[in-house]
Amino acid sequence: MVTKTYDNIVVGGGAAGCVVAARLVAAGRRVLLLEGGYSNRHPLLDMPPGIFKMINGSRYMHYHTTDPQPHLNGRAHDIPQGNVLGGGSSVNAQVYIRGRPSDYEAWNDILRGNNDGADWSWNAVLRHFRGMEDNNRLLNDRHGAGGPLKVSDPGYIDQMSRWFVQAVQGLGEPFNPDFNGLSQRGVGFYQFMNRAGKRSSSAYAFIEPLLKDPRLDLKLQARAEKIIIENGRAKGIQYREKDGATSVAMADDAVVLSAGALITPKLLMLSGVGPADELKAHSIDVALDLPGVGENLVDHPEVPIISTANGKYGYHRQGDGWRMIRNGLQFKLFGSGPITSAGVEAGAFVNPGNPDGEPTIQAFCVPIVYLDRDTRSLVDDTYGLTITTVVVKPKSRGHVRLRSASPSDKPRVSPNLLKDPADMREMIAGQRFFLRALEATPLKERISKVAVPSPADLSDAALELHCKRFVKTNYHPAGTCKMGADGDPMAVLDARMRVRGIDGLRVCDMSAVPDINAGNTAAPAMMLGDRCASFILDAN
Ligand SMILES: Cc1cc2nc3c(=O)[nH]c(=O)nc-3n(C[C@H](O)[C@H](O)[C@H](O)COP(=O)(O)OP(=O)(O)OC[C@H]3O[C@@H](n4cnc5c(N)ncnc54)[C@H](O)[C@@H]3O)c2cc1C
Repeated sequence: MVTKTYDNIVVGGGAAGCVVAARLVAAGRRVLLLEGGYSNRHPLLDMPPGIFKMINGSRYMHYHTTDPQPHLNGRAHDIPQGNVLGGGSSVNAQVYIRGRPSDYEAWNDILRGNNDGADWSWNAVLRHFRGMEDNNRLLNDRHGAGGPLKVSDPGYIDQMSRWFVQAVQGLGEPFNPDFNGLSQRGVGFYQFMNRAGKRSSSAYAFIEPLLKDPRLDLKLQARAEKIIIENGRAKGIQYREKDGATSVAMADDAVVLSAGALITPKLLMLSGVGPADELKAHSIDVALDLPGVGENLVDHPEVPIISTANGKYGYHRQGDGWRMIRNGLQFKLFGSGPITSAGVEAGAFVNPGNPDGEPTIQAFCVPIVYLDRDTRSLVDDTYGLTITTVVVKPKSRGHVRLRSASPSDKPRVSPNLLKDPADMREMIAGQRFFLRALEATPLKERISKVAVPSPADLSDAALELHCKRFVKTNYHPAGTCKMGADGDPMAVLDARMRVRGIDGLRVCDMSAVPDINAGNTAAPAMMLGDRCASFILDAN
């Protein structure tokens, strides 16, 4: 068994883990970054639309299947998670969204007044978002240029996306040139974490420049199994090397868990930190009874509206045969064309019930008939448009539990998407709103029919059934080791991301959030990485 000592160990080189590791190395720390997945260097991962080739089966993803969900008539659905350096930021659709000020002010309200006064207000987190950013269009008090993370307008915009943006304006929504600007509301084109058709993941943006730095020890396909805890302090990590050997690494300072919202709570529980009953049920010795570990799982539920087109619009077959060769050549020779798009360019944030209120629904305009295991047998594989609607502030909560005491078993996951009736109401309102967009000019002239939900019955009951049948993750599991106020028995972390009751242990990934931000989560995860590094460096 090999034992080596570092200043810090970061478990999981994902969106957040790469950032915290990079900042610690830059500050002079000797850091072990343990990443369970593969290298991020692969052409399909680099090019924006590569996600569509991988989403339904790739070694760069781990596919968690939920427990059967009773409120979805027993349905189970998959939750893919990145299994690669960069984590989700190496496999995601690259949409750059931070959430809105009220998300962070709400966290600050929960956390203020205790926890050593860590400030989570919008102005406090904005400094981190802005400092990391290299925006190719915007430079103002909200956006930065010159940072490591490349944020760009879409390299290519499909005509279907433009028609979507116009149709939603026709419904009275304003055109929004910057969803991370003064207001989220409206319709427009997203910005993306890429530049000139190449992904800007946390692996590329933060770790790549340090690969030759002797203070960084990056191990790939090295999977943490357990935290070594002695006398109430995290001392190190036991992990499995690529060749199957078991190794141990020790940390003089903090161990940082960044394995993502589904695996970080699993690692804590395997190490004896979690709800005592759950640990005992798997014959795990209890180091600390911390009932909040694995609870408070929150994710963005997504439901599709799938329509077929009356012409050859969108991305159907753009990755096949001669079109693939043409698009590949255009990309290689001129750095332009469909390959510079992630396959989604336009979107919207709306509040169907109260247009001037904060948006309740985010939409993605995907110019294809999106087929997965739920929709494949129901919809023709042809030209079309999928609009997905997402509840941005869901109330439903689920949990992550152990399947067994074996580190190689995936955890049991129950996200309870749309279980809370308020989430279902918001989702149905969102579906109705974007069904109207398909009937608005100039989209209506290009749509031949709506395939799901069936236009034959759009009653609330039918739409509810449709939502139950097709709801799935928007790929944003979060909240399973939440930061919380001192008196909250379910708080796993204090406001400096330290595990309550265990010294030398922090959680730095989307597990840490008290509530999910409105919108996508990769940029918030990177912000957490930057903040956690500041907390660690401040502490010394
Ligand atoms: C298919 C998909 C599409 C998405 N689209 C978008 C989008 O367009 N925009 C957006 O903002 N967000 C998107 N997201 C979400 C976003 O990428 C995630 O929210 C974000 O990556 C979460 O960051 P994290 O650091 O919490 O975890 P992750 O990025 O998941 O990182 C966890 C890391 O830990 C590693 N790991 C796990 N277990 C172990 C272990 N035992 N030992 C060592 N390492 C381990 C994993 O391999 C991974 O690298 C998408 C996600 C997916 C999966």
